[in-house]
Amino acid sequence: MLITVTCRADNARDLGYLLHKNPDSLFEAETSFGRIRVFYPEADDNCCTVALLLDVDPIALVRTRGAHSLDQYVNDRPYVAYSLTSVAIAESFGTALNGRSRDRPDRVGEKLPLSAKIAAVHCRGGAGLIERLFTPLGYSVTLIDEPLRLGGDSDPGGTIYAVTLEGTQTVQDLLSHLYVLLPVIDNSKHYFVGPDEVEKLLKRGEGWLASHPEKDLIAQRYLLFRSVMVRSALSQLTVLEESAETVEEADERQAKEEGAGEGPLHLNDLRLSAALEAVLSAQPPAARVLDLGCGEGRLLRLLLRETKVTEIVGVDVAATALERAARNLKLDTLPERQRQRISLLHGSLVYRDDRFRNFDVALMIEVIEHLDSPRLAAMERVVLEHARPRRLVVTTPNAEYNVVWATLPAGKFRHGDHRFEWTRAQFQEWAKRAARQFGYNVTFQDIGPDCDSVGPPTQMAVFDRQSAVGSRQ
Ligand code: SAH
Repeated sequence: MLITVTCRADNARDLGYLLHKNPDSLFEAETSFGRIRVFYPEADDNCCTVALLLDVDPIALVRTRGAHSLDQYVNDRPYVAYSLTSVAIAESFGTALNGRSRDRPDRVGEKLPLSAKIAAVHCRGGAGLIERLFTPLGYSVTLIDEPLRLGGDSDPGGTIYAVTLEGTQTVQDLLSHLYVLLPVIDNSKHYFVGPDEVEKLLKRGEGWLASHPEKDLIAQRYLLFRSVMVRSALSQLTVLEESAETVEEADERQAKEEGAGEGPLHLNDLRLSAALEAVLSAQPPAARVLDLGCGEGRLLRLLLRETKVTEIVGVDVAATALERAARNLKLDTLPERQRQRISLLHGSLVYRDDRFRNFDVALMIEVIEHLDSPRLAAMERVVLEHARPRRLVVTTPNAEYNVVWATLPAGKFRHGDHRFEWTRAQFQEWAKRAARQFGYNVTFQDIGPDCDSVGPPTQMAVFDRQSAVGSRQ
């Protein structure tokens, strides 16, 4: 697999500084799938070419995939550019890909006349696809149709092309485009589809993917049609476009599992049944229920059993949590009628989102304490002002109870991702103020047994929307 990038400009040798690779020496790195080499066939002041050569070891490749037949050893994989190439780009040019240069920081943002030659790509979807992907980004695309069709009859759609892309681009943009789009063109088994792929796609697609006319296809192919991931990537792209705020902050708050430090009490069960009870006691009965910060879907599973609840939506900021929820709920194999009642959305409760509107009951079960305090006001507006469910159920730890847990060091939170834990007075003060501000009545309920007058382990607030007339002050 070979890619070359040529820069024809004054001080073209600066390409070496921008890529953090010295034109006068050979860079080599060993990976689990073969050897990466970076070198410069030419490097003078007017023209500089860097080559990235990935010498794939087909045997190592097959071994890691546990394959057995001959065609798994003899195929186009060592020669064409695809997801392994993206890995090699990140390994060799990670600094440039992240938009940094130690010695030429002033040129990082400079658009240079660049030409990238990809020796071979296996394009599934016709030559037109390569043009549809690169032309909107400002490249002129030249293809040479290689006579080679290694896919044979089993792969009638694919053809091998040599591709030249020419455009005035920053080095970072060119690398990001290749990183994302080479696997998209190839569209075959990905070497790195894992739960953090959505984050990688959003990071590498920053600044161009949200407005790309083929963004849906790009997300689908990059993530190989893993539906939860694709939906989540697309919804985040929409968020980026609308708010111009990064979602990375929210993603950094990605959840880990709950429950550590909560002792032998079946507190989780108590909490879930209290939450469910708050859904079922709503009058008129709740049909549409929104679980904000649904995590791995424990409450969703209980809600699915309640036939009066006809629409259940789980939202979480962590794509990994949604993946787990989809697995736990066995969404793939649910009977169609059940499947239609439930959906999982990737989203954040600190961003206004129309998909959160028109619910009878919304819940935030052990979620609020995961938000940074300065984001609480945004969450209140998103949930109580914009989404405006008839009822909102919020549970959170009662900090006073923490002394009861012998295993929890004094002053520590129950969970590493908690940003705060409130006493009963603090929670009630917050909830009463928010209720007043947004036209809700609020009541409080204990969850779990009160010990030594420190109150219950978990506290719950139920906000009921005041009727429209005369409700707001
Ligand atoms: N409600 C679930 C999970 C609680 S853990 C349960 O009771 O089992 C907290 C969850 O909130 C995590 O899954 C985390 O990813 C999610 N979360 C944290 N910040 C969020 C945000 N800004 N928007 C949406 N979800 C968020």
